[in-house]
Amino acid sequence: MSSYLSEKYKNFKAYTPGEQPRDKKYIKLNTNESPFPPSPFAQRMAREIAGELQLYSDPTVKPLNQTAAEIFGIGEDEILFTNGSDEALSFIFLAFCDEKRKAVFPDITYGFYKVLSDLYGIKYREIPLKDDFSIDPDDYTGINDVIFIANPNAQTGLYLVENQIDSIIKNNSGIVVIDEAYADFAKGSVKHLIKKYDNLIVTGTFSKSRSLAGGRLGYAIANREIIKDLNIIKYSVNPYNVNKMTMEAGIGALIDERYFKRNIETIIENREYLKDKLRNMGFEVTDSRSNFILAKSGVTGGEELYLSLKEKGILVRHFNDERIKDYIRITIGTMDEINTFLEKVKEIQDENQRQYENQ
Ligand code: PMP
Repeated sequence: MSSYLSEKYKNFKAYTPGEQPRDKKYIKLNTNESPFPPSPFAQRMAREIAGELQLYSDPTVKPLNQTAAEIFGIGEDEILFTNGSDEALSFIFLAFCDEKRKAVFPDITYGFYKVLSDLYGIKYREIPLKDDFSIDPDDYTGINDVIFIANPNAQTGLYLVENQIDSIIKNNSGIVVIDEAYADFAKGSVKHLIKKYDNLIVTGTFSKSRSLAGGRLGYAIANREIIKDLNIIKYSVNPYNVNKMTMEAGIGALIDERYFKRNIETIIENREYLKDKLRNMGFEVTDSRSNFILAKSGVTGGEELYLSLKEKGILVRHFNDERIKDYIRITIGTMDEINTFLEKVKEIQDENQRQYENQ
């Protein structure tokens, strides 16, 4: 840290993204990316625009807005595209949270909400998940600050159905943000509720189900007045936030619906297979509706399992939060990756068992 850093960041704790090591080739099941490459059509569209990168991108991203509006069944002025959905979340904090309206979110959820609160000096309140890690919608009534709920929730993968989300929005006069980074894997988006509620913002991303994590494309969907507010922030922070190649790749990924749907089906199938296998091996596994699961071994601790798997060339994610420190989070990969993961887990469990018996 230099001596010039502003006082306000001296004790600031930045977000720690999942590791992307280059020391050897790992099976990467740690950052909830898609195991499949972007749609070939999306790739071609991005390549074709590369020769025009001397020009700025279109700040209105109109062709992308038009395509998304049609596919999502919303108006063109009801969506704002961003540089990943992290940027959409950042704009929401800047636009709607202040000294009077704090941020409210579950104690176990996407870590970025807390980081953004601290970065922008916003107070926040964490509401504990129930013992089974589910969100109780009744805990979110009459709050009237700015509520952030990831659905499916980050880390647990657990999912609230539409009428539970509906009741949260109905019972709050403040903004409710539903972060749908993983909603395609639950086949349950509440985007259409923006027609019913003017205090709802739905955020989403092309990083997971549309295989474009490295392209950085996310969005916020809400009624047009909210989108206008968010545009004030966007044009004041970074008007060209979506670059040309990403816009084209995004259009391609939206148009190639067959590819998108097939990949989702495969990931759902692989997820259910992994849940079954791990449960049969004595693991406690959340009933995730996402592209990852959270699992706890009856034999090996969370951190130990994470480290042993890393040594064997498999990356998963481990969190130090008290409530989930015994678990590991596993991104759903291809069937081959999952089977290799299961083999390595079995090896580790057997080694532990032998050590235990020799004591
Ligand atoms: N929301 C949730 C719940 C997430 O897990 C993530 C991914 N880490 C994001 C938002 C941000 O994703 P991206 O910026 O890649 O769109």
